[in-house]
Amino acid sequence: MFEISKQTIKIDCPECKRSITVSIKQITDEALVKCICGQGIQLKDSKGTNKKAISDINRSLKDLENTFKKFGK
Ligand SMILES: [Zn+2]
Repeated sequence: MFEISKQTIKIDCPECKRSITVSIKQITDEALVKCICGQGIQLKDSKGTNKKAISDINRSLKDLENTFKKFGK
């Protein structure tokens, strides 16, 4: 079973601009993640970013599904 909360997305460190992989669950939990540069990033779900991320993932899944359908023919 595919669980959206276990999916990861990439965010950019505000300090060094490196991309950091965080799980959707970490965002919904508003966890504090640390970049390798030492910058702490407080994840916030308040702006509905996570909702957007989830809809982006859903869209990607849909694309993937369509791709598989194409291969199936
Ligand atoms: Zn950083």
